[in-house]
Amino acid sequence: MKNKEIILKLQSNRALEEGEWIQIFDTFDDEDLRFAMDLAREITIERFGKKIYFRGIVEFTNVCKNDCYYCGIRAGNSNCARYRLDEEDILACCEDGYAHGFRTFVLQGGEDPHYTKEKMCHIVRSITERYPDCAVTMSIGELDRDYYQALYDAGAVRYLLRHETADAEHYALLHPASQTLESRMRCLKDLKEIGFQTGCGIMVGSPHQTNLHLAKDMMFMADFKPEMVGLGPFIPHRDTPFRDEAAGSVDKTLMVIALTRIMLPNALIPSTTALGTAEAEGRQKGVLAGCNVVMPNLSPLEVRKKYMLYDGKVGTDMSAEAGIRTLRAQMEEIGYEVIVARGDFKRR
Ligand code: SAM
Repeated sequence: MKNKEIILKLQSNRALEEGEWIQIFDTFDDEDLRFAMDLAREITIERFGKKIYFRGIVEFTNVCKNDCYYCGIRAGNSNCARYRLDEEDILACCEDGYAHGFRTFVLQGGEDPHYTKEKMCHIVRSITERYPDCAVTMSIGELDRDYYQALYDAGAVRYLLRHETADAEHYALLHPASQTLESRMRCLKDLKEIGFQTGCGIMVGSPHQTNLHLAKDMMFMADFKPEMVGLGPFIPHRDTPFRDEAAGSVDKTLMVIALTRIMLPNALIPSTTALGTAEAEGRQKGVLAGCNVVMPNLSPLEVRKKYMLYDGKVGTDMSAEAGIRTLRAQMEEIGYEVIVARGDFKRR
């Protein structure tokens, strides 16, 4: 079967065989990419219009107990100047964001034991009490089910936890032995069962990734049916074991985004900062490939440069307001409108 036929089969079946995924990733050309992006964009516009949700991300701690080999804020990076924001700082970011029209706050951080269940739930409760019309999304890694449940009970409604790869051997090449795919999958299952709108995802072109791994990622997502999917290219960081590895390709990332949209038409898919870092027009291209969310940074300017997951991360020298202005202009440039709404997942 030709790649285009396989892509149309994906549209009707919402799933493909392993061999079909591998064929696309092994052989797709510019025309196949254009075909997939056009179809993905049509599907997105049909469901969401030319409207992009925006979420304010507050990177509230870069302290992390984990040592993921790809990540600039890994515990082993002694060149990373660490910081933590307290509840008051986080609420100030939300206040700023609310005034600029944000109705979702994403609290993201390293896995930092300083933020106990009680502390974190208090923060979530303070935000939801102060801004009852806003959604709180968490992205703070692997936790006990109890902790997840407590966050949900405190009012958080979404959780982002990329699975990073659905292949256990590949997972072991990206993380030390203390971190396992089994544990990551347990977390994702718990999050869904508790009732969170749950996000998984991968870095495209992460070291040692093969097209078989990508096929497994797509098959995992077909089965797991995440409400959100985070997809960006891998970008090396100079203070990590992967400093000399090649960055992921933008075109392949766009292909994965487009295929994900075709497979999961209702999903919330952000056009990521990594995509905008890999290429100046990356975030616009992400939208043209089926993304429908952007996540401007609401973190205080003083800490931005310290949340360096990879080299060259864009937006670290811009105030929250300037960052929003830039993103809005980027979206308008391609005929899209950034909208003020919570933008919850809906089965249509
Ligand atoms: N600690 C939480 C977690 O692990 O889910 C949230 C923060 S973590 C830094 C957020 C995401 O950043 C990871 O899931 C990973 O995919 C991405 N990331 C980390 N290092 C990266 C790199 N070098 N290039 C691209 N993305 C990266």
